[in-house]
Amino acid sequence: MKFLYRIRILFQILFFLFFLFLFFQAVFPYKPVVPSEFFLQWSPLTALLTFLSSHRLYAGMIPAGVLLFLTIFLGRFFCGWICPLGALIDFADLFIKRKRKLRRDATTFRWLKFGILALLVVMALFSVQFAWFFDPLALTNRTFATTLYPMLAVLTESVFGWLWPIAFLQPALMSIHEFLESWLLPVNLHFVAQGIPIFLFFLGILLLNLISKRFWCRNVCPLGALLGLFSKFRILERTVDEEGCVSCKICPADCRMNAIEDNFVDFSKVECIDSLECVSTCPTQAVTYRFNLKDPKPSKIDFSRRRFLQSLGSGVLAAGLFKIDLVNRDVRGDHVRPPGALPEDVFLEQCIRCQACVRICSTTGGLLQPAWLEMGLEGIWSPIGNPREGYCEFTCNLCGEVCPTHAIQLLDLATKQKTRIGTAFFDHDRCIPWNSGDNCMVCQEHCPTPEKAIVFREGNFVTAEGTLKRVKFPYVKEDLCIGCGICVTKCPVEGTPGIFLTADGAEREEI
Ligand code: SF4
Ligand code: SF4
Repeated sequence: MKFLYRIRILFQILFFLFFLFLFFQAVFPYKPVVPSEFFLQWSPLTALLTFLSSHRLYAGMIPAGVLLFLTIFLGRFFCGWICPLGALIDFADLFIKRKRKLRRDATTFRWLKFGILALLVVMALFSVQFAWFFDPLALTNRTFATTLYPMLAVLTESVFGWLWPIAFLQPALMSIHEFLESWLLPVNLHFVAQGIPIFLFFLGILLLNLISKRFWCRNVCPLGALLGLFSKFRILERTVDEEGCVSCKICPADCRMNAIEDNFVDFSKVECIDSLECVSTCPTQAVTYRFNLKDPKPSKIDFSRRRFLQSLGSGVLAAGLFKIDLVNRDVRGDHVRPPGALPEDVFLEQCIRCQACVRICSTTGGLLQPAWLEMGLEGIWSPIGNPREGYCEFTCNLCGEVCPTHAIQLLDLATKQKTRIGTAFFDHDRCIPWNSGDNCMVCQEHCPTPEKAIVFREGNFVTAEGTLKRVKFPYVKEDLCIGCGICVTKCPVEGTPGIFLTADGAEREEI
């Protein structure tokens, strides 16, 4: 029966490669074979919690509904066959040697994932959507976008840098680099500061394997808990031929979810992820999986009423903390959101911090980056503009195209080119003509609006020596500025630029 197990591994690898393929095909210009947001829309956790917090339905929830429906019959097959985080955890496990000191009875913390799920549901009912922090699809995409992808880009550029001095390789290197630029490399290799905590969290998940196999999936993952609840009555069952079973204890030792009971026959429908290890390792081939339509018996959930009440209480407390929000609200207007972003409250309820927008933006203008506390506690890791690093490309509307939850609405290009995400203002203490009396036109040259939003008016400048000088002073025509930020990116002033961007006048209507 080993071939069934191998088929499962093959599917796990293929789904992971599919996830990577969708991730890497999200580049400007965007010509997807399959929409790159497709995989991210398979999470019933984010679908449920965005719905509970914002009361909005969107077409992208359909795959999540299909997955829940299949789970009722097949159990948590998503965790064992499809989940990219699960695949990475299994892969990491190949290199991890568990220390005896750290090993724990794997059932001790099972309740935790249900507790986290209950806490997230309560928070969502109070309009605080925190599913994004734990959701395995969002967090894997987030880690790839903010850490692994920039690291890969830096590595690629370094290799080209090392090889460039070899003269005869240069023509080939140029063509390869051009090709890579068109589908892989970001336009600018700026450092994504939030990549560090995002990566550390991800690394922590992999290191939990030191305690037990798939510790995250067994004990922490709220998506696993949700799928577990729907698996309780599953009809695809692990069946043991009791006469064939020689009680060798191999299957419970090998089961990565510790889903097999002490009698080797019964199993937890809530915990089993259909990994088929027991089918593969049973020396007498006594284990099979069969559909039991006659009398499928439910499994119990490791979650006591006391823990349930504790989770409810913690959820109310956490929602309150997020809503009170001790972070200074005044600074939020300093930061722009992507074009098409929903009104702020709904945006935060819908955004799952997957960084799909940040990643695709890095292949065009590179405006977007994950926030830290700039937009308050609720806004952590949501996308904001960093115009010193990049700008919103005039001919691009892709963040709205790839956003899996429609937190960023898709604007057609003509609409997007007229949609204001903020307004630029000159800093007279930093701008060269205003501050030093020398003409400078860099910002005006780059302004992409058909009628330039930066204009010049000639006037007198008094130099340090007290003489008068005729200078062209730049002004922003606020009714024409769309807040793309390219003037800030291109401003030649070192350090703090001569022009800055705020969210003033941002158009955030729901369409
Ligand atoms: S912010 Fe602008 S450049 Fe970046 S993805 Fe969105 S539309 Fe494109
Ligand atoms: S706004 Fe960006 S980070 Fe948020 S869900 Fe959409 S694509 Fe993901």
